[in-house]
Amino acid sequence: MTPPRPAPLRAGRPALRTTRALLAASLTLFAPSARATDAPATATAASLETLTAADRRAATIGYELQTHGLSFCTHQTNLPGWVVQDASQYRADFRAAAERLYHLDQGPAVTALVPGGAAEKAGVEVGDVLRGINGKALAQEPSAQRRAISAGYEQVIGALDKAFADGPVSLDILRGGRPIGIRLAGARGCASDIQVDISSSFNADADGRTIGVSLAMLRYADTDDGLAFIMGHELSHDILGHAEMLDGEHVKRGLLRSIGKNRTRILDTEQQADYLGIYLAASAGYDLDAVDRFWRRYTHDHGLGLFGDGTHLGDRSRIRFIAAAIAEVRATRTQGLPLVPDYPQFLARFRASAATPSH
Ligand SMILES: [Zn+2]
Repeated sequence: MTPPRPAPLRAGRPALRTTRALLAASLTLFAPSARATDAPATATAASLETLTAADRRAATIGYELQTHGLSFCTHQTNLPGWVVQDASQYRADFRAAAERLYHLDQGPAVTALVPGGAAEKAGVEVGDVLRGINGKALAQEPSAQRRAISAGYEQVIGALDKAFADGPVSLDILRGGRPIGIRLAGARGCASDIQVDISSSFNADADGRTIGVSLAMLRYADTDDGLAFIMGHELSHDILGHAEMLDGEHVKRGLLRSIGKNRTRILDTEQQADYLGIYLAASAGYDLDAVDRFWRRYTHDHGLGLFGDGTHLGDRSRIRFIAAAIAEVRATRTQGLPLVPDYPQFLARFRASAATPSH
């Protein structure tokens, strides 16, 4: 369908923070072929609810991976376990519906909660408008600047990230027009924001602080187990600091990615992310059989085929690599030992087995 597609699950596309803007801008994916402004209000609301369901699913899997993977990451924070959005993320013709549905006209609001997550347990509800955090106003009244695409969102997420990193927070919430206060400690987890990226490509990204997973990938992943591996792979890039590391080494990840050291360095980080991604999915309790099945199906449907550029393992090798990581986790569990990833040792064993023709 789309022959020269990029390698899947690549790391490091910059400026992922703005993808919510793309998300809103691409709502026509759901709307009928009519221009969005002509779409009936109910269709608009349904589109937004579809997006919210995708947000909730990605946030929930991310939360599971981040909280259960605590022992694998040094950059930790307190995770609220919610999805917060701001009116500035929505294209003008969808903004009214978004404001109506989530009270975004009154400020940034909670549009979804991770079931059983910290925010839900603390009594936060969908539709709660966030007015302040730790006594400071979170966002100004709607202004021209805030209305610029994503500007408000950047401001809100930045303030929330900072507050939660410091510990329990006091939230000033507007619920049904009435101000209430909620204290929210958050759950300890690996630091990364989760974003659903509107995109028709089967992709996921990590830029060091944000994990993006495309709506197409969310739809394709028919089980949460498969999606947990995809997101675990991306979380691994963030945990291992790959984006920053490759930038520091002046490794080119764009058009020059398959040239010289760029290729080998990227390939190395991709394999590390596959390996740790399996450990993260396993630690969060996802079914590794389902992960294996998902990856084989994905490769069959969307593999690199002949288009591989060397920055990722070839289709068959990558299936074997992932299966070997799964086998290592299973063996560790059979022995009753804790899951402690050891990538260099794994890689040496994998390479030795790859040199054996019977494998
Ligand atoms: Zn990757």
